[in-house]
Formats: sequence, C-alpha cells, structure tokens
Amino acid sequence: MFSYASAELEFCQRLPKVELHAHLNGCVRDGTLKELAGQTLLGGQPMCLDQLVTLTELSKSSPTLGECFALFEVLHQVTTTHAAIRRIAREALEDFAADNVLYAEIRTTPKVRPEAGVAPESYMDSVFQGIEDYYLASRKPRGKDIHVRLLLSINRQRGVGEAMETVRLAAALRERGVVGVDLTGNPTQGEWLELRPALDLARKEGLKVSLEAGEGYNPSETQAMLEWRPDRLGHCCCLNPALEQALVRSGIPLEVCLTSNLLTRAVKSYGEHRFPLYYQSGHPLALCTDDPGILNTTLSREYAIASHAFKLTQRQLVALALGAASHTFLEEEEAEELRERMKAALPRDIRFRLERESAAAASAASTATTASLAEGSAMSEDGVRPVRGQAAGGGGGGGGGGKLPPAWRRMWAQA
Ligand SMILES: [Zn+2]
Repeated sequence: MFSYASAELEFCQRLPKVELHAHLNGCVRDGTLKELAGQTLLGGQPMCLDQLVTLTELSKSSPTLGECFALFEVLHQVTTTHAAIRRIAREALEDFAADNVLYAEIRTTPKVRPEAGVAPESYMDSVFQGIEDYYLASRKPRGKDIHVRLLLSINRQRGVGEAMETVRLAAALRERGVVGVDLTGNPTQGEWLELRPALDLARKEGLKVSLEAGEGYNPSETQAMLEWRPDRLGHCCCLNPALEQALVRSGIPLEVCLTSNLLTRAVKSYGEHRFPLYYQSGHPLALCTDDPGILNTTLSREYAIASHAFKLTQRQLVALALGAASHTFLEEEEAEELRERMKAALPRDIRFRLERESAAAASAASTATTASLAEGSAMSEDGVRPVRGQAAGGGGGGGGGGKLPPAWRRMWAQA
C-alpha cells in the first residue's frame, strides 16, 4: 500500500475536517461486516465469509471496476436490514467524529428489500435512528460534536422510475436533514439522458445535486454533466484535456477520493492522478473517503496521502481542510457557522506557527515581492480559505473566472 510518514498522518488527524463524499454502506466496519454476514441468509444458507473480502484485499488481484461494483452488490445484501443500517449509521458517525471530522454529508440509496421488510421510507427511518443513537451516546457538547446531513443516492443502474421516487423522498425528508441527491453506481451502466429528468426534478425541488463523473472514460457523458452544472462533482479522474479545462472553467467543486480512485483502477497510480493540476489551478476541492470501511481508510489518511503524493505543505493541508467547509450543501448561515467552528477547532500551536510563518513571509515580501507566490501557499488573509489562482507556478486568473493559468496551459499541452 501507499506509504506516508506517521508524522504526516498525525498532523492530518489533528486538523478539523469536512467529509462530503462517503457512502453509508461503504462506512461499515470490517468487524461489523463479518458479524452481519453471519446473520445473513442467501438462498437459505448463511453467507460465506470468503465472499466478504474487502476492496483492499480484492485489490491485490487487480479487480476490474465491474468486480468492485459486484462486491458492492454483495455488501448491500449484508447491510440492508433495519437493525444493520441503524448500527452502521451510528458507527459511521462514531468513526468520523473520532477522526476529527466536524461535518459530514453522508450519502445512501434508500433500499427496497421485501424479504427483510425494508422499504425506502423505513430504511431512512433506520438511518435517522442510527444518527440519534450516536448523539444519545456522545459525550461531546453539541456545538463541538460532528454535524451530519444526508444525500439520497440515485443508483444509475436502477432506471428513472426509482430515481424519481428517490428525489421525491429526498424532498419529503428535507426537514430531517436531507440536503440533496447524488448520482452514483457503476459508471458503465445506466444512461445519463434517461436519468436526467430525475435530476431536473431535484433541482426544481430546491435540492442540491452531486454527480459522480468521469470514474471511467466517458467524454460525452461527462460533457453533458458539466453542461447541466451540478452543485458538486465526484471523481473526474478519466477526462480528456478539453474536459479538464471545461471542469476548471466551470468552477464546480470537486470531491476527490484518492484511495478509491486507485483501488477501483480509475487511475493506475497517484502519479497519474489529476489532483495536482486541479489544485494548482485553484479549483475548489474537497478530499473525501468514498467508502472508508470497505477501503480501509480514514479522511485523515486521505489528507496524509495527498500530503505525501503531491508534496503539500502543512499550510496547504490546513487551507485544504478548512476550505472544504465552503463546498457543503448547507444554507449560507449554517455554512458560515461551520467555517467558524472549523477555524476555532484548529489547534492553537498549528495556528500560531502558520501565523508566524505568514508574518515572516510578509516581511520577506517587502524586499522580494514575488517570493511568497512562488511557494504556492494558497492561503487567504485570514489564513483559512484557499485563494484561487495563487498556487505553485505563479498562475493568475484561477479556474472559476474562465481564464486558465499559464502553468495549466503548459501542463495540458504536455498531457
Ligand atoms: Zn462514491
């Protein structure tokens, strides 16, 4: 597996973080999964534990994307009883909170499993009960505890009828913490054009929309998704240079799931990942886990991997972590409150060190005004938000304004 220094991981664990792309079923702990498998009957027989290799183990045999999604199908059978989903929801919050995640948007497909008495509404009731269970047991003051919102997932394999029902359910559950919908599932199946009416309905209902895009190479679909302008995108690993440029011009925030992209073979190595290009353009990014239980990762680990693979400084990691709070689906007032909570939760020693470095850089800048830009310390004046277009390579402009930094144009030209 990919390595990073333990000090990098420790630093990332101390950062307050925001999780924007995590599938509830994918959060299941290994031990919980094995326990649930023992209670699950397939064709009248208990499920064979060998069927429950995690994706990390499966990756040793170089699975195809199709094999990865076949595994997810098996997992869904194990995790779809009311009791199981309630437990998984509670444990997911426990794990995110233990990893210093202050806010999480967790996505889940409301399942139908008649043999277990599970319908979409009752499935969601179990998710809400699991969240309540977490707060009942938590000893943290509510203001300092993890906050959570939900996205209901439209599975692209299941057709537009089910997608429309999912959107209607999401709209009905807004008062209970559902903020949007996302499009998910095996990218080689399901047609964008067929599913689009459901996403149009979501928009009409005032729900936010995130689309998983470009997990496999499908340029016409990715182009259509970009033109539809979702509120966020996930993955976008397999784009051609023209689409990468279109993404940056769009300014649509991107959920980046490094471990997932590697294990599902969306990229062959982190060296091939497009994170550095998007980052250096000043594009809005949020590191996410995708399926932390199944992928055996944490959000801190994803930050540590980014730190190591892309040589990010501690200042850049702080900006990335705090900047993710600007890409949530919260209403503006709540989003502002989250940003304040994030800033307040940044450990004092880290804040002081960064402020000292900023003061030293400002002093040096008075004699050599270009030095600080070349360092690529993409931080705003408050030391919190990333500043678009002020990254390594000294590119100006930024992605959202439609003008590409010169360094970007050079890299794409070489791609
Ligand atoms: Zn995903």
